[in-house]
Amino acid sequence: MRPSFYPRLVNGPFDDPALFVPFFFEKRALLFDMGDLHSLAPKELLKITHCFVSHTHMDHFVGFDTLLRIFLGRNNTLHIFGPAGFLQNVEGKLAGYTWNLVENFDHNFVLKATEVHAQYTLTRVYRCSEAFAPNQPPERAPFDGTLLKEPFFSVETTLLDHNTPCLAFKLSERFHVNILKDRLKKLGIPVGPWLRRFKEALYQERDPEGDFEATWKEGGKERKTTFCLGDLARQIAHISPGQKMVYVVDAVFSPENARKIIDIARDADQLFIEAAFLHAQADVARRKYHLTARQAGMLARKAGVKSLTVFHFSPRYLNTPSLLEKEAREAFLTASTGSDGMQGG
Ligand SMILES: [Zn+2]
Ligand SMILES: [Zn+2]
Repeated sequence: MRPSFYPRLVNGPFDDPALFVPFFFEKRALLFDMGDLHSLAPKELLKITHCFVSHTHMDHFVGFDTLLRIFLGRNNTLHIFGPAGFLQNVEGKLAGYTWNLVENFDHNFVLKATEVHAQYTLTRVYRCSEAFAPNQPPERAPFDGTLLKEPFFSVETTLLDHNTPCLAFKLSERFHVNILKDRLKKLGIPVGPWLRRFKEALYQERDPEGDFEATWKEGGKERKTTFCLGDLARQIAHISPGQKMVYVVDAVFSPENARKIIDIARDADQLFIEAAFLHAQADVARRKYHLTARQAGMLARKAGVKSLTVFHFSPRYLNTPSLLEKEAREAFLTASTGSDGMQGG
């Protein structure tokens, strides 16, 4: 199955983290954490519509300015999410600059920020044309774990303990539509932009008895054929479970965090998870509210994820990053014979 999302860590495992997730089928991307964003090209940054910030320790939020700088003076809306205290952090960042000439800008960039609490969210809008002054009080909404829901994907979160709330995120494609090219060929219709409309019709659950028009160009001429949507879907589409990607950073290894991480990561295709320390330094990891590589690997195994990527390594391992990867991989592939710390660890 050709993936719909292509998640990639923007930096190496020792750098300030950010996971960039471009979409295959449109010029759009999501971003998880705003660490060092300098290696993303402006055209990539401008694809971002939603950013999910785990917590506002500097290493996860320092890229805010890079993002703001590139979006400023554009007619875009950027929606960012973060844990308790997020609105204050965002307002503090915005207050760090002088905005006296922005009302002359031709474009009106809008920043929307949502602060996530266990039972509710607070959303506030900051407009460039208003010098980012928050003119309305935050809007409060009940929260059930889902941050963003669109016809073809959703983003959910869970609150972890890092001695401050830290959000872990799951991006799920609702289902995956695979186009059967050989069947398409038999119908005598070429691939083209109409397939995107066709997929959208499926995600929007349009009436399967309704008409769907496939249009394409042949020899410079417009061609079209009308199908019954449901019939066409049965003929050329294979529907399978959607892609699932999970992002977990800074969290202490407690029974509650372990349960929440396993829950959110269950059966994910890809898990990106911090592995700050080797298990030999588990006491340091605990004091700093981080996971060890062995704990990260074990959580991935218990969640049944298909692919594991560890990152966010402590600089003390700068010369030996492979040790962290090896320890995580061993715990991922093999059940530990000793205590893996699920009870007391
Ligand atoms: Zn942190
Ligand atoms: Zn961190």
